[in-house]
Amino acid sequence: MSATMERFAARNPELKDRNVLVVGLGRSGEAAAWLALSRGARVRVTDHRPLHELGDAVERLREAGAEIQSGGDADELVQRSDLLVVSPGVPLTLPLFSAARAAGVPVWGEIELAGRFTQGRVIGITGSNGKSTTTSMVGTILRRAGIPGGTGGNLDIPFSDLLHTDSVDSVHAIELSSFQLESIEQFRPDVAMVLNLTPDHLDRYPSFDAYGRAKARLLEVQRSRDFAILNADDPEAHRFEQAARGRVLRFSTRGDVPAGAFVRDGKLILRTDTGDEALMPVDALPVPGEHNVANALAAALGCRLIGCTKEQIVQGLEAYRPLAHRLEPLGEIDGVSYFNDSKATNLDSAERALTSFPPHSVHVILGGKDKGADWPALATAVVRHALSVLLVGEAAPAIRDALGMLDVDVFEAGTIEAAVREGAQRAEPGEVVLLSPGCASFDQYPNFMARGDAFKRAVRALNGEGLNA
Ligand code: ADP
Repeated sequence: MSATMERFAARNPELKDRNVLVVGLGRSGEAAAWLALSRGARVRVTDHRPLHELGDAVERLREAGAEIQSGGDADELVQRSDLLVVSPGVPLTLPLFSAARAAGVPVWGEIELAGRFTQGRVIGITGSNGKSTTTSMVGTILRRAGIPGGTGGNLDIPFSDLLHTDSVDSVHAIELSSFQLESIEQFRPDVAMVLNLTPDHLDRYPSFDAYGRAKARLLEVQRSRDFAILNADDPEAHRFEQAARGRVLRFSTRGDVPAGAFVRDGKLILRTDTGDEALMPVDALPVPGEHNVANALAAALGCRLIGCTKEQIVQGLEAYRPLAHRLEPLGEIDGVSYFNDSKATNLDSAERALTSFPPHSVHVILGGKDKGADWPALATAVVRHALSVLLVGEAAPAIRDALGMLDVDVFEAGTIEAAVREGAQRAEPGEVVLLSPGCASFDQYPNFMARGDAFKRAVRALNGEGLNA
């Protein structure tokens, strides 16, 4: 261990000389291992994959004194551990965790670990859709305002990695998935946001209710002086009202709210104890769609509650640039616009994308790995906004069954490349070719980024001028 690390560990003795077992060596697992090492713990890491598949992290961690192993006997692993830290991708139903619970050994998620050590304040953001967008909007506002801290969690950088530059003045914007929220106990955001709840991950949860309960954890861990930001327009918000322990504020794109953020006369308005403040016109937001107005309202409110000024919030929102793969405009070819919304991995986000465009203007690419989605629920948006549906991937037959009767052309393209060529041929000037698949990508791609990149390559291969990149 380096001298700096040793000094650091001495100042933070809670894990010193304790035996910490990190389960799962993904990005979060590695970050948790480094955090535990920096706190003076003896760290072991287990992953079910063979060591040669785990990449460079194995060597890096070994050099710092960690032991790394593939698999292992559950009882033996538990016996040698004072604490288990679990990565979000690892199911909590493994025998290892029941063995730990039976032996009284605590099991923390990576978020719980980081949450126990952060000295700064946390804005925690969850929901079915809009987490990454809202988290990065908050991050942009905080950065532009010169407030120290980081942006991460489920988005890019694990929370544990943000703590290398943590201080009492830091404010961290942390995106949280439902899986990460299942394993929190004392982690407590100063400001919590639940953006919305729509069906997703029903292949991993026994029911919609169970999925909603995982999200509600974020609010249950708060204290009365914390803030809970809820979506007044979301029909599922009642679940979260009941779970909230902090002071509830709401956001709405449709009407005003007693306390929170809303739209009036085309402007974003904040309503706090100090009265109403008009922030900026909705039209000045650099991202399209009503859903992004909702995300901006939530982000603005969260930043106001931790002390940003109106000016800082407006400057941050104006400076915000859309993330790749979320309704990302690629430019125009022959008057036809191309949009990459590969991150739309559930029906609600695909619906938001479709309804962001004028009626009867979109050739939409749908399909991929189905997660048990209720496809008929997309029918209204498809009929109103789509001119054709171009099907790809495993879910194609299910989508055809659900949408084939509608008054839209359904074409079995099979691959993204074929779908782009077909879309380009069909689209007239002024129309849109949109990848917003409503499905996970894992049937044909390693992740949604690779799928979005394939879409971009296929659009570039049309050899048009006028593309952004
Ligand atoms: P998440 O991190 O929750 O998956 P993202 O911000 O990455 O959310 O966006 C995922 C998808 O959902 C994109 O297709 C995006 O356009 C869409 N989306 C973004 N915000 C919302 C929202 N508030 N409601 C519904 N869909 C949204």
